[in-house]
Amino acid sequence: MENVRPAQFSPHLISDTLKALYTGVIDLIYPPLCLICDQRIAHARLEICGSCLEEFKLIGRPHTQFSVPGEIYISGAWALFEFDKPFQQLIHHLKYSRRRKPIGIVLNHYESQILDQLPTNKIDLVISIPLHPRKFRERGYNQVDNMSQWLTEKLDTELGNQFVKRKKYTTSQTKLNAEERMKNVRAAFGVTDKTAIKGKHVLLVDDVLTTGATANALAELLAQSGASKIDLITLSTPQYGNA
Ligand SMILES: [Zn+2]
Repeated sequence: MENVRPAQFSPHLISDTLKALYTGVIDLIYPPLCLICDQRIAHARLEICGSCLEEFKLIGRPHTQFSVPGEIYISGAWALFEFDKPFQQLIHHLKYSRRRKPIGIVLNHYESQILDQLPTNKIDLVISIPLHPRKFRERGYNQVDNMSQWLTEKLDTELGNQFVKRKKYTTSQTKLNAEERMKNVRAAFGVTDKTAIKGKHVLLVDDVLTTGATANALAELLAQSGASKIDLITLSTPQYGNA
């Protein structure tokens, strides 16, 4: 103890110690549980237990099914994980319970397998497909932004979310036929800076790929703005295995 000098009790050290103590007490009162299977995990920051993390299933090949009328403006598409029960749970948490950290843990765990599939060193801009303004207000965040940031970092490229926007809330889409719906969706997107898009290879990011109509509508607009190529990546798709 003779080596302990007053200088070592810096506010930083004290706050770190208190933080660790606080986390320890919270873990005791509320034992941290796996987000997927509810089994006890060692630390809250792990979010998902080792066996659940291992069990997510990577699809591992590009996605080719689009149920979109007209021209497809998406060159390459990837839906990363099978839409099984555990993955649906993960996406539900991401969208509705503000649990955004776990997705980063899953992406990190499968980093090399994900990056192996993508055209690395070729993408200029990563863009999250923007939410409807009303949905964004309700949720307070775009659930795919964490994935877009992760991709931007791993692909050593730029985030271009500021170059696109969603203009209006498209209601009662269910009453429209496919073509009207498409027109409605297309009209809802806008490009804020065409010069920033021109000549760029864009990677669009979404959470779940269903028909691909929304992504294709934005891709069409980006193509009209001069983007050289548009790819799409999503976390999952319910279409896998239904071919
Ligand atoms: Zn688990």
